[in-house]
Amino acid sequence: MSERQWAVGDEVSGFVLSEVSPLQEYKATGYLFRHIATQMEVYQVVNDDKELFFSYVFRTLPNNDAGVAHILEHCCLAGSKKYPVRDPFMTLLKGSTNTFMNAMTYPDRTMYPAASPLQKDFDNLFSVYTDAVFAPLLREETFQQEGVRMVCEGDVCHFEGVVYNEMLGGSADHDSIVGRNSVRSLFPDTPYAFDSGGDPEYIIQLNYQQFLAFYSKFYHPSNCKLFIYGDMSVGEKLQMLDSEYLRSYAKLNVDSLVPLSEPWKAPRKTSFTSPVEEGEAQGGDSVVLSWATCEASDPLSLITLSTLVDILLGNPGAPLYKALLDTKLGKDISPESGMSGDFREMPFTVGFKGIDSEKAEEAQTLILSSLKDIVDKGLDSSLIASSMKRSRFKQQEIPGGFPNGFRALNRSLKGWLVDRSPSATIVTAEPLQALEDALVANPRYFEEWIQQHLLDNPHRCLVTVKADSEHEKRQMATIEKYAQAQAQALGKKGLKSLAQQNEHFVAFENEGDTVEDKQKVPYLKLEDLPSEIEPNIYEEHCIAGRKLYLKKMFCNKIAYADFAFQLEDLTERELLLMPLYIRLLQMTGIGDMEYPQVTNKLKSLTGDTNLYVEMGSSHEGPDKMLLVCRTRTLIEDFSEALTFLHSLFTEANVADLERLQAALINIKGDYVDNITYAAHSFASLSASSIFSTIQYEGEQLSGLDQWFFLENLHDEQLFLVAEEFKALQEKLNNRKRLILHLGCDEDLAPTLVPSYEKFVLLFDEKETIEAKLRSYEKVSQGITHAVELYRLPSTVSYSAYVLRTSKRGSDEQAAQVLLGQIITGNDLWEKVRAQGGAYGVSAHADVMEELFFFSSYRDPRIAGTLADFTNTLELYTTKEVDPSDIENALITTVGNDLRPLSPSQNSILSFRRILYNISDDFRTKRRNQLLGMKSEHLNEGAKALLAYAKTEDSFVVIAGLQLLETEKAKNPVLDRPSRRLPL
Ligand SMILES: [Zn+2]
Repeated sequence: MSERQWAVGDEVSGFVLSEVSPLQEYKATGYLFRHIATQMEVYQVVNDDKELFFSYVFRTLPNNDAGVAHILEHCCLAGSKKYPVRDPFMTLLKGSTNTFMNAMTYPDRTMYPAASPLQKDFDNLFSVYTDAVFAPLLREETFQQEGVRMVCEGDVCHFEGVVYNEMLGGSADHDSIVGRNSVRSLFPDTPYAFDSGGDPEYIIQLNYQQFLAFYSKFYHPSNCKLFIYGDMSVGEKLQMLDSEYLRSYAKLNVDSLVPLSEPWKAPRKTSFTSPVEEGEAQGGDSVVLSWATCEASDPLSLITLSTLVDILLGNPGAPLYKALLDTKLGKDISPESGMSGDFREMPFTVGFKGIDSEKAEEAQTLILSSLKDIVDKGLDSSLIASSMKRSRFKQQEIPGGFPNGFRALNRSLKGWLVDRSPSATIVTAEPLQALEDALVANPRYFEEWIQQHLLDNPHRCLVTVKADSEHEKRQMATIEKYAQAQAQALGKKGLKSLAQQNEHFVAFENEGDTVEDKQKVPYLKLEDLPSEIEPNIYEEHCIAGRKLYLKKMFCNKIAYADFAFQLEDLTERELLLMPLYIRLLQMTGIGDMEYPQVTNKLKSLTGDTNLYVEMGSSHEGPDKMLLVCRTRTLIEDFSEALTFLHSLFTEANVADLERLQAALINIKGDYVDNITYAAHSFASLSASSIFSTIQYEGEQLSGLDQWFFLENLHDEQLFLVAEEFKALQEKLNNRKRLILHLGCDEDLAPTLVPSYEKFVLLFDEKETIEAKLRSYEKVSQGITHAVELYRLPSTVSYSAYVLRTSKRGSDEQAAQVLLGQIITGNDLWEKVRAQGGAYGVSAHADVMEELFFFSSYRDPRIAGTLADFTNTLELYTTKEVDPSDIENALITTVGNDLRPLSPSQNSILSFRRILYNISDDFRTKRRNQLLGMKSEHLNEGAKALLAYAKTEDSFVVIAGLQLLETEKAKNPVLDRPSRRLPL
């Protein structure tokens, strides 16, 4: 499409342009098109963002708890007219560089979003999604598979189905029961009173006809909104939409706007139960108070409430949080406390978790009196100021994580869903300014808001959720009773035809897709990827005698300062203490300034500050051992923030025994919290530790060994540790340790660099850092077959098997990188996950450390999984690998580099590449090696891995005692003592 000037009223492909709005904050223009015949709306936000994004949005209002919107979301993705395969998305995924792909059901809408940095990939995604929403097959078998179906043996019947099972699990979690019911109770006269995800007791009552009727009503173009975002031509998709889909529709009046609830004249209360294991019920209840506040479509109300939540509940020291904790009425405040902008009227919720439900009235009185207290005394102005600062920071920063388009869509929907223009709520700078103005005009703005919308507002509900060991029995009894009634109603004849139907269903399930149908799904080819890598462009400066690497990029006036202290000269003991030392730095005072003030000051000066130790091998250079500090600030705070960080590093109260104790508890608590979901990572780190000094130290500093070390630090030793910390602080205060990186806007560098230099000069000048040669007995000397077993209370295992790869930069290593990718998605998935029953499995080569990792996650086996790992390698020594499997693996591997990065991500990636000598030449060479891979290279790569395994390998298992015992018989290497983790 050629460049053209657009004006309101222009018509194109059956659409009329109804609004054009400049969106400065997105460096974009918004175009709102309306389809003349059906009234479907398309909002296209055009800017130069390379991460292209779109989402279909349908308002879908439930009128019962059967979860029909959720089931429909699953079924739309299970085959459509143009792409009649069972799972077009899995097929598409294999050859896609998408950065986001999802489908989600909300209480009042269903969304189908996706994003990609490549136009061709975007077009593929758009085509498959469009056909999925406007031309899904919605076969009855699909409804039975994804939704629910009754299965009988004789006349004993039960239910099966993906969403039915998902919600049996989903409805069980105590906190989500609190969250869901606190909102549902507030709006009993609206669709929000129903469970859009589905309540199993009602899902079983849904039938196929009701399901189809829901589709016809809500998935009509007249009820559809399409959002498109990024660097594309204006109106690009309109012609295809009109000619291929919309022409066959006439306008339909769909009543899908959520009504406002009738305001209450008096507060209400209600109670629910949640499942719990017998004997655990005592004091495990929740009591929360919920209010219906203002409409989310009012941008000032939205930012007022979200800022207020940060002020009142942002951390355990925040006024409302602290007041409630101090009452000791519950173990903690409910994690459901806070606000939500996802409903037409925003709920605000606060309350207790781990409380006795008998104390509900007392809890209500305390919450109200705490709020009244806050209003009477007034909020601390420095608290308000740091929250406002944070809001401004968030508003200004170009964030990572989700695609920018997804964030823009969610903002625009606040207005768009209630029939306002999407441009009315997409911007955030104006409402933030309005809030700042309101605070200047009235310093008691927040207090008055609390008075009016909370204290004086009778539209509030006291919700009690009682943990009840009978809950599940009642639910299952209801479902069983319904099943038996159905069976009786069907009679002998009905049951027979149901059995036939189920046979038909099983046959459907077993019959796969035809090759012809599979080929209809579009996917990328290698030649669609850009032929060159994105170079790492930076400048090298010298400030105060230290290296500064400067990366100039668009940062929207935020400075990203990452700097590292070299630690290569530290002793083994000093390194071991480093993680606790860093934790303490973030949890203690500075001079007279107490810890909460330090936190508040950091929060007001920086968007975020992170400290961590990192180490690794560098390409053609010595190993690195570093304390990294990452911080980001508004440019006007840059200098002050750095000065403050200097005092944190050099003057923090690192010998404060009370804080030291708190830091020790805190860091050990992290191990306990992380172990079950990261156990495979801990196993991998532990298994790799025998291969090199740097890997060994990695385990010592951040693995299980560090955990055991912390566990053995007793209170009486802390006095000694405090002394060691003082010496460490002194030792680290040396500017010769520093390596600096700065990511910022080009025009701001001349003012920021001198501030950075002043920061460096604040540190003492001491001796040059000389790397200490450290060696460890446990590191392999060339022949090792290591096996370590750890125990934790669990019925499953997490295991890691590690070997050496070929040399970095060799063709053979490139083949091993690709091999990891291919076997993860194919062979291991099939054997360890599908057949073996593990929840997750992976294989990958670590290029820099020259190691090959296998790991399994939540695995019911141990010996069998280890055998699968080595047998898979064995298989690939001769297997002829399908060229399309190689191509798909390459698209995923090479395509990973295309993912657009936020300035923060870009800054640290650039710094890491510099630190570890990963040059553009090295990256280009690796990419070309990968692209040249053929089946025989993979065979050679597998052979080399097996040859390495003959002399050195390492196997680590973290599992439950019972499983370790039963697996002993299956492989004699498992017949050895295990070590209990300090849980
Ligand atoms: Zn689902």
